[in-house]
Amino acid sequence: MIGMRAPALAAVLLLAGACVTAPPEPIADLKPGERPALGTDEAGLWMQMDAVEENLSTSGRIVTDAALNDYVRTVTCRLSAEYCKDLRLYIVQTPHFNASMAPNGTMQVWTGTLLRVQNEAQLAYVLGHEMGHYIRRHSVQRWRSIRSKTDRMAVFTVTSRMAGLGFMGDLADLAAMASVLAFSRDHERESDDIGFDLMVKAGYAAREAPKIWVALEEERTAAGAENPSLFLSSHPPTEERLATLQARASAHAGQGKVGNKPFRVAVRRYRTDWLRDETRKRDFAGTKVLLGNLLQAGYPAGEIYFFEGELYRLRGDDGDMKEAISSYRKALGSKGAPAETHRALGVMYWKSDQPKQARKSFRAYLAAAPKAEDRAMIKSYIQQLK
Ligand SMILES: [Zn+2]
Repeated sequence: MIGMRAPALAAVLLLAGACVTAPPEPIADLKPGERPALGTDEAGLWMQMDAVEENLSTSGRIVTDAALNDYVRTVTCRLSAEYCKDLRLYIVQTPHFNASMAPNGTMQVWTGTLLRVQNEAQLAYVLGHEMGHYIRRHSVQRWRSIRSKTDRMAVFTVTSRMAGLGFMGDLADLAAMASVLAFSRDHERESDDIGFDLMVKAGYAAREAPKIWVALEEERTAAGAENPSLFLSSHPPTEERLATLQARASAHAGQGKVGNKPFRVAVRRYRTDWLRDETRKRDFAGTKVLLGNLLQAGYPAGEIYFFEGELYRLRGDDGDMKEAISSYRKALGSKGAPAETHRALGVMYWKSDQPKQARKSFRAYLAAAPKAEDRAMIKSYIQQLK
């Protein structure tokens, strides 16, 4: 099935879909190891997703590091030992919060999610929520519930584009796709419940579950409409859902595991790269909120302030050079500032006509990064500044 041309797949899906006119029948949960019967609309959806999965796996955006993959897979399997063998994990290098589970068991976790989730319990909740959509077969339910031809065509276009043209379009496209593919509120409620039950059963701290939604909502409010969140457009949050989750969390007795340390050890090697991808998104307000949250969560202040400086530098509005200098200096006064903070500060001083300070910063950079590849260039800067 894998490797069929997209138009053929799309035709299969369209034909299968066109036969459904009666109201949707109640549908049993997917059993571990179960595959839909051939010739059904559900089998068509799976085939479509097989093609999407093939595109995804060859997209060049997959993080293949074994340790990180093992870690996320272990958390998944801790949530459900029976289903974990049916799921194939793809960690996708994209600086946006998104996690998804396709009906055929393709599980995607974007690096923007791993940057935002603060501990293993929160990761478990997000994965559990996605498993809920999978176990309850929400995708096929949604497909069957679409009555209007226009909506069917929209979903058809979106899924065939995903299968045919590669998955990594620009963000606006992805957000539009996500809203077309959005689950109903009932499905979201069900998945919230399943995710919560799975994480609690696996021994994680219930109070962590609502925190990730609160943080995302804060970012979304700051980012505004020009920076849509893919995840939130496909999983529309509501105050009622959050309230339900908070009520369940506070009613839950027992402490449970938060898993700060194992999570941070697993992502430590990547955090700087992910923060760099994040600042390059050019979503100043949203990223600023995220950096504030990471600082509060106890991430190294030197690193966070360095990236705050980067945010100002990249925006480059009036007064941002001054702000960047102030952030870089705060970084250097805190623990964990990368060596490149000195270099960035040197460039800012140079641009703002402070040659003496610039020289000092470049020298500090050479001292802090004795093996840096750009040593010769930095030395030439120092010469020019004399
Ligand atoms: Zn959802």
